[in-house]
Amino acid sequence: MLTTSEQKGLIDAYQRHINYLRISITDHCNLQCLYCVPSGAVQKVSHESILRYEEILRLAAVGVQLGITKLRVTGGEPFVRKGCCGFLEKLSRIKGLSDISLTTNGILLQQHLPRLYEIGIRRLNISLDTLDPDKYSKITGVNAFDRVWEAILSALEIGFSPVKINVVALNGINDDELKALANLTFKLPVHVRFIEQMPFGSRYTQNQSALLARQIRQQIETIAPLLPVTRQENDGPARRFRFEDAAGEIGLITAVSRHFCSECNRLRLTADGRIRTCLLSNKTTDIKTALRNGATDEELAGIFLAAVADKPRQHNIDSFRSSELNRMVSIGG
Ligand code: SAM
Repeated sequence: MLTTSEQKGLIDAYQRHINYLRISITDHCNLQCLYCVPSGAVQKVSHESILRYEEILRLAAVGVQLGITKLRVTGGEPFVRKGCCGFLEKLSRIKGLSDISLTTNGILLQQHLPRLYEIGIRRLNISLDTLDPDKYSKITGVNAFDRVWEAILSALEIGFSPVKINVVALNGINDDELKALANLTFKLPVHVRFIEQMPFGSRYTQNQSALLARQIRQQIETIAPLLPVTRQENDGPARRFRFEDAAGEIGLITAVSRHFCSECNRLRLTADGRIRTCLLSNKTTDIKTALRNGATDEELAGIFLAAVADKPRQHNIDSFRSSELNRMVSIGG
């Protein structure tokens, strides 16, 4: 039985309804993206510290009872964790969910596409910052552009929709390719989303100023006018546009230049079992210890509610900027 406050769901102190949970299932990744990998030495997270699939499923089910309707599975790289598809299948059986999506670098995606489709997953975010295979190797440390590109084309062919391509805009690295990436939307029904690079304490982010959405927009508007796309109820933070007669869309994610905290409906569950209510805040709530000590669903719900009650009104990107503690790879983006 849920208590009255549990029945009201996840509403924070600023009356934001939290219905979106992003779950990082691993902090391991098969890429070493230069804007993501931390510059300093990183403490290894032990195997036992990582939530087991059954533990994540239980927490997700408690979240859904509290009003979570959308889940995104991310990492690290979700497909480097064994049994990812089996886990997704179980996740998809949780009643009350309207949407499960996945963020992946696409390297291991191709082989899993038919099963993902069978499970009912339709929404894929695939990270790809360049169309140049050599540059891809330079950014990620791995020569695998073709594999990712083929996975994108296969996903479209199978019928996944939307297929979003996440591009972190990187001064001096892919700033000469923004138009080529935007041009993809004329031919392919993909959503190309340009993300302002956030200060996650990597070697690259410490040395570079972010390329801002307005600069990105200026560049791609030289192709053709960008027509705004009407926002839909479940839209994330991207401002959506399209070129006339294009098959796909353009998204601009102003993570740095214009925060979207007042509309934030998200929670994150880190791979090591902590609830994070703000991507750009170091504050987290441990839920794993209670879970492993035999907490009831009601007690776990209480931990979710307390974390949400403490969700910051808005992030403070400047105090966050300098911290070496922040690792996108473990938070999950
Ligand atoms: N491995 C998966 C992938 O590559 O999509 C999921 C995890 S990755 C951390 C999630 C997203 O975060 C990716 O789209 C990645 O480009 C983005 N990301 C990582 N570091 C970032 C940064 N410093 N600023 C903006 N986005 C970043």
